[in-house]
Amino acid sequence: MAGNLFIVATPIGNLGDITSRASKTLAEVDKIYAEDTRVTLKLLAHLGITKPLISLHDHNEAERVAGIIAELMAGMNLALVSDAGTPLISDPGYRLVRAVAEAGLRVTPIPGVSALISALSAAGLPTDRFSFEGFLPAKSSARRAALEVLSRETQTLVFYESSHRIADLLEDMACVFPERELVIARELTKLYEQFYRGTAGALARQIKSDADMRRGELVVMVGGVPERVENTESNTIDTVQLMQVLLAENLSVKQVAKIAAQLTGQPKNQLYRQALGLAGSATEE
Ligand code: SAM
Repeated sequence: MAGNLFIVATPIGNLGDITSRASKTLAEVDKIYAEDTRVTLKLLAHLGITKPLISLHDHNEAERVAGIIAELMAGMNLALVSDAGTPLISDPGYRLVRAVAEAGLRVTPIPGVSALISALSAAGLPTDRFSFEGFLPAKSSARRAALEVLSRETQTLVFYESSHRIADLLEDMACVFPERELVIARELTKLYEQFYRGTAGALARQIKSDADMRRGELVVMVGGVPERVENTESNTIDTVQLMQVLLAENLSVKQVAKIAAQLTGQPKNQLYRQALGLAGSATEE
C-alpha cells in the first residue's frame, strides 16, 4: 500500500503551539523533509523525537520530487515541515504537493499555526474577505506598482514583510494610500509580541523614531477600500434628477437620453421613454 505525505504545521515562535496531532505524526512517519534541517532538529529535540531529516527547500525541491514519489509508492509515510508555520504558505512545498497529488497519492494536512491567520484573528480589521499577498517585490518601483494595483481592493490585504524592509514598505504605503487603516503584527506568539495600529501615514512616521517596529518578524494588514453601496432605487433617483437638470437646460429628449445613457450605463431606449415622461410632466406643470 502506498504511503502518505503529511504536511505538518509547526510553531511560529512559541513551541507550545505544536498540536498533539503534529507531534504524533512527526513521531510516527518514516522520514521528515524539512526546509532547514537545523531548525527542525531543534523542534524535534524539544519533542524528544529522533527521525531521519532531509532538506527540501526552494533550490532542491524540483529534484527531490521523483525520489519522494518513489518512497511514497514503496509505502513510506513522510512529513513535510517548514521552518515555521504552515508549509507552502510563503514556504516551499507547492511543486511537491502538486506532483504527489497528480500521481494519485495521498496528501494529508496536519493543520496548525500560520502567521497570517494569527495576525488577522487579533487585528480588528474585517476578516469576512481578505487577500493574502505574501511578500511584495523587494525593489521600490515594483513594490509601488504592486501597491497601486491593490489600491482599490475592498478586501483586507495581508502582507508578509521582513524587518529590514518594513520602513520602506510603510513609506510606499503612505504615498499610495496615506489614509488607509493599517495593523502591524510583530513577533506573534513570542515574548515581545506587539500590535501597531494607525493610518499608513502615521505608522510610516512612527517607525522612524521607534526602533522596535523595525525588529523581528512582521505581518502587515491593510483595511480595504469601503465598498460603495449600489442601490437600484437610488440609482433611479440619480438618473431622474440628472435628466430633469438636462431637460431644464432645454436639451431635446433624444439628447438627454443619450447623455444619461453615457453617464449611467443604462439602456438608451429605456431612458428615452423615461425622459419623454419627464418632459411631458414638466410641460403639464
Ligand atoms: N509558513 C509561514 C506561515 O505559515 O505563516 C510563513 C513563512 S514566511 C517565509 C516568513 C514570514 O512570515 C515572516 O517574514 C513574517 O512576515 C511572517 N511571520 C512568521 N512568523 C511570524 C511571527 N512570529 N510574527 C509575525 N510574523 C511572522
